This record gives sequence, C-alpha cells and structure tokens, in this order.
Amino acid sequence: MTHSPAPPEVSPTGSAWQELLPPMSAHEAALEANRCLYCYDAPCMQACPTHIDIPTFIRKISTQNLRGSARTILEANFLGGTCARVCPVQELCEGACVLGADHQPIAIGRLQRYAVDHYHEYSQERGLAMFVPGAPSGKSVAVVGSGPAGISAAAELAKAGHAVTLLEKRELAGGLSTYGIVTLREPIKVAQREVEAVRALGVQVQTGRELTGAAELDILLAEHDAVFLGLGLGAVPAMGIPGEEHLLDGLEFIEAAKLNPHGLKPGRRTLVIGAGNTAIDAATMACRAGAEVTMVYRRSEREMTAYRHEYDFALHEGIAFTFLTQPIAVLTEGGRVTGLKCVRMALGTPDASGRARPEPVQGSEFVIECETVIRAIGQEKPALAELLGLELEGGYIRVNADLQTSLPRVWAGGDGVRVRGSASTVMAVQDGKIAAAAIGAALGSGGGRVQLKPEVPAEVRQLALYTEAHPEAPHA
Ligand code: SF4
Repeated sequence: MTHSPAPPEVSPTGSAWQELLPPMSAHEAALEANRCLYCYDAPCMQACPTHIDIPTFIRKISTQNLRGSARTILEANFLGGTCARVCPVQELCEGACVLGADHQPIAIGRLQRYAVDHYHEYSQERGLAMFVPGAPSGKSVAVVGSGPAGISAAAELAKAGHAVTLLEKRELAGGLSTYGIVTLREPIKVAQREVEAVRALGVQVQTGRELTGAAELDILLAEHDAVFLGLGLGAVPAMGIPGEEHLLDGLEFIEAAKLNPHGLKPGRRTLVIGAGNTAIDAATMACRAGAEVTMVYRRSEREMTAYRHEYDFALHEGIAFTFLTQPIAVLTEGGRVTGLKCVRMALGTPDASGRARPEPVQGSEFVIECETVIRAIGQEKPALAELLGLELEGGYIRVNADLQTSLPRVWAGGDGVRVRGSASTVMAVQDGKIAAAAIGAALGSGGGRVQLKPEVPAEVRQLALYTEAHPEAPHA
C-alpha cells in the first residue's frame, strides 16, 4: 500500500532549515496565557512527567513576570527549553488540557519556550544566573553522558552542593539535543545554552572523554563518591541484507543535517527504511534537501511507531509511504545505489510486541528505483552496559525505583534504562532528577535542594504504560 501526499512547503519561518514554529510575540503570549483557566489540580501538570507547575508559569507570563515564569519551569525541568520543543505535548500536557475538549488546548509548549527563551536570551547571556550551586557537601559525583538525563542529574546534584564532573565522548556536550534532534525542532544553540547553564552551576564539563570499560568505571568510582550513567542507546542496527554497506545510517544523516544542512546531498529519489520518529526526522531532512522521499515500512500504517502528529507532519511535508514492504537487498551498479529490492508483506498473528506479525508474500518481490537509502529502524541496546558488568533486563540496564543499578554507588537513567519501548527526552530529564535525589540521599545530603514530588514516580510509570503501547524497538 502506498500513500502519496501533497507537495512540500517551506517552514513558516521562511527557511527549509530553521526552527519550524516561530517564537511567540509578546502579544501572542499574553493572549494565550490569558486563555488559561489556571485549573486547581491541573490535569496538564499531572500529565507532565517532570511535573512542571504549568498554571503557575502561565499566570506569571500573563503578569509579565517572565523570569519568574522561567524559574517555575526550570526548577522542575532544567531542560525546559529543549522539552518545550521536543516533547510530544499533544500526548502529554496539551493533550490533557481541559480546553481541548471544546476549544483549542492552551499552547503550553510554545508558552514554555517563550518564557525559557526569554530567560536564556536576556538573563543568562548577561550573567544573571537563575540558580546557584548549593553549599559544598564535600562529595563528588561523576556523570557519564551529557544528554538530557546527564545534564538534568548534573544540575540537580550541583544545586545540592556536590562537586560534579560531566563526561562527554563527543566534541560538543548535549547528546541527543545537540546531535540527534533535527534543527526544525531544536537548533543546536538551544542545547548549548543548557550546557552553559549547567557549567554556570560549577559542573566541570569534560568533552572528548569516553567511558569504554569496567576498568575506567572503577577509576571513576575511586575518584568520586557516586557515578551516574546516562549512556543512551547504541547505533542503528544492521538489517543483514545484501548491499547493506550502501545504506546510510539514519542517526548519522540527521547529525550531518544538523551540523551542515547545506552540505546534505541525498539522491533525487531517496528511501528511508523505518516508520518511527527518527525515520520521519531523517525523511524530513532528505525532503528539505530536495529529494523525493518515500518511507518503506514492513507493517501497516496502524502499527507505525511514530506519533500520529509526526506522521501527519511527514505527509504535509510531501513524504510518501510504502507500507507492508520489507527490503531484501540493496541493488548497485558500479558502487552506486540504483534500487531497493523488496517483498510485499501480509499481517499475521500478533508477535511479542502485540502487533500483527508481518510475513512475506511468496513471489511478490519488486524493485523501488532510487539513488539513496537511509536505514532508520531504531537503535541497538546499550552495548557498553554489559562491558561495565551491569545487570541487564531485556538488554537495558536493570535499575530499581531509585534508578540504582546492580553495582554499588552506580545509578543510571535515560534511554539506556527504558525497558518498555520508546524513550523520550522528558523521561530522561525526570530520570536525572530521581537519580540525583537518590544519590543525594545515599551521600547523606538528603537530596539537598532537589525538589521531587512523591507522586512523580507513579506518573512516570503512567507514561511508561503509554510508551509500552508505542514501542520503538529495532526492526519495529
Ligand atoms: Fe490552563 Fe489547560 Fe492547564 Fe487548565 S489544563 S491550567 S486551562 S493549561
């Protein structure tokens, strides 16, 4: 089955590579903030995994107290600028807004971006820090990985007075926010402002430092009182088909699009294998670089792992979809890709994920002509975890409710511990808070200034149930 949509449009900001949604003007923000009912026991707040006090930050926008609004957000979620852009708000806060039933829900994500951007642009850049390090506790913590979980944990630990060293293997800190989220959703400068904010708390950010094995973890444990691992996931898995070496890696493609969008040269006809959010991001970038893009997915539209709004966005961009199609070989001539050999699939009985199992239809092979094929079929589980000697659960790092691993003095969070299906930035941020509070308690500081409401873990579990129904696993 093939779905061919309308031709693409340029972003409302006027560029194919700029952030998709323009910032709100002061007038727009005031109008929107004044629509909020400031609900008691607000459902939007209950739906936020980091439990941001949404009615309070919106009320502060309506009274022109933007710095206060940003404080309300950032106290609950240090990566409020990133989450304002990348959170699936339709599924979370905005999806729960009481105005959604009869009217438009409040544009909570855009209001959050308005307040946090104002802080970062007008306060942080003038050295007016929002937070200060806590009174020194005499304890030190190493945080490995500077993605959302690592930065969140580092910030909360620093606020509690611990000396924090944040280790990042890449050249730039920020992890997925810096390298893995397309510019249309989050420009690099937003991620870098959050890195600067954690530096301003006294966190030592050391880039180009990679943890590769148990011996190095032992050294970190000898040098520090505790270690937090925000390792993320691995590479895009291999498909095991002939010609595999000619496939482009979806994550590397997105990274190239982010670092040098004008250098992106996909073939005129580009295929993207997969139907998760990362696959849609890769397809969007190829489309905006001028390619005719078709996404190839072995299941049907109903089993896609991308959020519905992402799918609608892809259709709006002009991306076509070929469902029930399994690639079986990459065809080449003289080292250049000429096509993708595929087989038609039919849906059978449910598999382990609960979705109908796709099965090949005998004799249905066909070729889709193309010049570029991008593989975006999920990510491998964190391979490093096993090397570190951590106990695993379904290939992910086993942790308890406090995010403590099987190793003494080692905690973990983020995508590497998400046993149930798709992970998200906001879940990783919450992991950082939970782990920081647990580390603080273990180090005898009682969690310091880290604010955690007791009901938050239940909500995290609630979201986990949601993500369980929307898994994004390799070969999904
Ligand atoms: Fe405002 Fe909607 Fe939240 Fe109520 S549910 S406080 S109207 S954003």
